Amino acid sequence: MDKNIRGTLSFYRFLKSDLLIFAVAYQAARSIGKFAFNINLKMINIILFGPPGSGKGTQAAFLIEKYHLIHISTGDLFRYEMGNDTPLGREAKSYIAKGELVPDSVTIGMLRNKVEAHPDAKGFIFDGFPRTIPQAVALDQLLAEKNAAVSGLIALEVDDAEIVQRILLRGQQSGRPDDSNESIIRFRLEVYKNETAPVFDYYAQKNKSHNVNGVGSIDEITARLSDVILKFEKE
Ligand code: AMP
Repeated sequence: MDKNIRGTLSFYRFLKSDLLIFAVAYQAARSIGKFAFNINLKMINIILFGPPGSGKGTQAAFLIEKYHLIHISTGDLFRYEMGNDTPLGREAKSYIAKGELVPDSVTIGMLRNKVEAHPDAKGFIFDGFPRTIPQAVALDQLLAEKNAAVSGLIALEVDDAEIVQRILLRGQQSGRPDDSNESIIRFRLEVYKNETAPVFDYYAQKNKSHNVNGVGSIDEITARLSDVILKFEKE
C-alpha cells in the first residue's frame, strides 16, 4: 500500500479510538453526574411535627424501618448529652428541666453535626426539630447545601387533655423529670403554641405542611403517615 494511504489510515484509526474513548468517558461522566444528582433529588426529608407527647418518637421508629431513613431526635440527642454529663448536656439541662427551648445557636449546631455525620443518608426524619422559625431556616439552608430540601412536614394532631395524660404516663414509665410535672407539661404546650406552631405555617407557605390525626392505634397512625409520605415519593 502506498505509504501516504497507510499513514492516513492509521491516523484515522487513532482518531477513531480516541474519539471512542472520549465518547465513553463523556457518557460515564454524565451518568455519574446524573446518578449523584438524582440521589439528592430522591432524598426524602420528613419533619415529624406535633406537640410533645403526640407520638412523634413512636411513629419515627416505624418509619425509619419502612423507609430506611436516619432518625434525628433533638430531644434524644440532648438526653444523651445530659446522661453523659457533657458541657452541652449541662447547658441543655437548665432549659429542659423548666420546659423551655434550648437556645437556637446550641440546637442548630448540634443538628448540623448530626446531619453531617451521615453524608450518604437516603434521607432523614427530623423529630422535634425545627421548633422555631430560625431553626427551620437553618434546616432549609443545610439541606440546600446538600442539593436537597424538606420533602414535607407532617403534624400529628392530638388535643391538650390527651397530651397531658399521655406525657404523665410516659413520665411514670421513663422517669423523665420534664414528663412528670403537670405544670411543666402545660408550659411546654404553651411554648409549642407560641414558638413552634409557626413552623407549620412557614412550611404551609411552601405547600409542604400536612395534618394527620394522631389519635388511634399505632398501626392506624403509621398508615395515615404512609399515605402522606407516598405523595412525597412521587414528587
Ligand atoms: P422532646 O423529647 O422532643 O420533647 O424534647 C425535650 C426537650 O428538649 C424540650 O422540651 C426542649 O427543652 C428540648 N428540645 C428538644 N428539641 C429542641 C429543639 N429543636 N429546640 C429547642 N429545644 C429542644
